[in-house]
Amino acid sequence: MNGKSFRRIGVVGAGVVGTGVAQLFLQSGREVVLVDIDDNQLERASREIAKNARLYRLVQKNAPSAHDPLAKLQCARTVAALEGVDFVIENITEDWNLKREVHIAIDATAAPATPVAANTSAIPITRIAGIGRHPERVIGMHFMNPAPLMPMVEIIRGVHTSESTIAAARALVEQAGRQSILVNDSPGFVTNRVMMLMVNEAMFLVHEGVASVQDVDRLFKTCFGHKMGPLETADLIGLDTVLRSIEVIEAELNDSKYRPCPLLRSKVYAGLNGRKSGEGFYKYDLDGTANRLQVAE
Ligand code: NAD
Repeated sequence: MNGKSFRRIGVVGAGVVGTGVAQLFLQSGREVVLVDIDDNQLERASREIAKNARLYRLVQKNAPSAHDPLAKLQCARTVAALEGVDFVIENITEDWNLKREVHIAIDATAAPATPVAANTSAIPITRIAGIGRHPERVIGMHFMNPAPLMPMVEIIRGVHTSESTIAAARALVEQAGRQSILVNDSPGFVTNRVMMLMVNEAMFLVHEGVASVQDVDRLFKTCFGHKMGPLETADLIGLDTVLRSIEVIEAELNDSKYRPCPLLRSKVYAGLNGRKSGEGFYKYDLDGTANRLQVAE
């Protein structure tokens, strides 16, 4: 399956990450079926993909310019539209019950040999693979945000994931011009087991009055050369997704070092979910490219 070319990709979930994943594959010339239960999210995703494709062409001189990226994008409200796709990538809300429901539907729709990737921040892939009848075709593909820009995809092998599914996932990533690193299954995998702990601890420092939001971020950028500070990163991910992810890791590892910061909870209760909602630890310009405007303290 390694040499196989994937023509039509099913992307389920048109939120922050699903939109980026859809754009990445459209950029590399694939057809994309983008599924979301929320019409507004599908409309927002289409607008963002069209806008980013115009910007992409400006900076990538060799990018295909003849076609409109939306011409290869099909939007749908149910996974029934996935029939006949060559690869499925699920990116819905980080919630076990929702993931369970959608993977039952994907399992019933996608042909048994079609690889199914879960793009989750923390839920064990083996748990997701256990939902359907073909655990060997289920794999973790952890795309980094923003997916069209980030060079690396963390690929996660579940207990039953087959070698041909791994080869297919690696080939798909390579065909999109990206690299991959394969890791074994564990809650949060490698990246988020460390990163969620770091951003949560940074929130505790703000919560306890040890330092301001801006100073915490500046320390990480200037002392360690990070491109973004931990609070900027949390806003980019989405604070609701950070909360759900750290709750999953805490429950799965039964380790209180992952207890969510009360400040994170209160921001999420207040609907201050970061860039996507216009405010998190910083305030953002919602209609533009979500440029950081000011600290939301
Ligand atoms: P999000 O909240 O921005 O988007 C989730 C989308 O899923 C929404 O548009 C929602 O309408 C849709 N959805 C919910 N139930 C659905 C269903 N049954 N069928 C179809 N669509 C459904 O979330 P996000 O940040 O894009 O995260 C999506 C997944 O990707 C999560 O599992 C998250 O942990 C993971 N992830 C997130 C990031 C990040 O930086 N945000 C990075 C890597 C992976």
